Amino acid sequence: MSLLKGKTALITGGSRGIGAAIVSRYAEEGADVAFTYLSSEEKANALAKELAGKHGVKAMAYRSDASDFAQAAELVKAVLAEFGKIDILVNNAGITRDNLMLRMSEEQWDQVINTNLKSVFNLTKHIARPMLKARAGSIINISSIVGITGNAGQANYAASKAGIFGFTKSIAKEIGSRGIRCNAVAPGFIETEMTEALDEKTKENYFSNIPMKRFGTGKEVADACVFLGSDLSTYVSGQTLSVCGALS
Ligand code: NAP
Repeated sequence: MSLLKGKTALITGGSRGIGAAIVSRYAEEGADVAFTYLSSEEKANALAKELAGKHGVKAMAYRSDASDFAQAAELVKAVLAEFGKIDILVNNAGITRDNLMLRMSEEQWDQVINTNLKSVFNLTKHIARPMLKARAGSIINISSIVGITGNAGQANYAASKAGIFGFTKSIAKEIGSRGIRCNAVAPGFIETEMTEALDEKTKENYFSNIPMKRFGTGKEVADACVFLGSDLSTYVSGQTLSVCGALS
């Protein structure tokens, strides 16, 4: 398939997990992909090499801290210089620093808000001008169902993910008239390195609360991002697409 042929995408946090699945699906659909990592340099470069070889697309990994405003500016500049344009931005980079609120440190709060929410502002801010000039673009922000439901022990994470919904709707309203769309994706429990480490009993406990009785896969989240990045969704903006097996 080539739903994204001719498009260039920038994806934050593409070295592992859901981000790597999005990078891979985008390349499979014919997009040129630029993606970032923070510490997994080897993994990121290996993925870029594999995708370029397998799909004949341009694929490059960049070390860039999404929580840093200046680094986001440098990144957008470098990607535009190398790829010529950015049609799709996927704000995926995210972390957890779980703790009950009474025990949560200021550092745990700041790290999560800066990496999960400020990053979305950083990248969107710097990509908006080139997209405005092109009068086209799709911005996809990876939130979480925890941003809708809340979760004990994750007040920082839930607040960062809920903030993404307000930001997404506002951006869709601010620059929709210029042909730029902005949507959020809200994954439920997704199989990642973290969930792989859980024992069967714990997994069964989680499954009992999920109507579809299983975790989702990175590919299933990536498929939603293909839809929102592609011309299949040209009148979809300011929305949240939950990928959660009916959990929320
Ligand atoms: P993950 O496996 O831990 O991967 C996180 C990715 O983000 C890695 O590529 C990491 O780079 C990168 N990253 C972390 N901090 C960064 C920073 N400051 N700047 C740039 N990149 C950074 O996480 P995941 O489970 O795939 O989650 C991806 C997104 O989906 C997150 O926003 C998460 O909140 C959301 N989500 C996940 C689930 C789930 O069940 N897994 C559910 C709902 C929502 P390095 O490899 O270099 O560390």
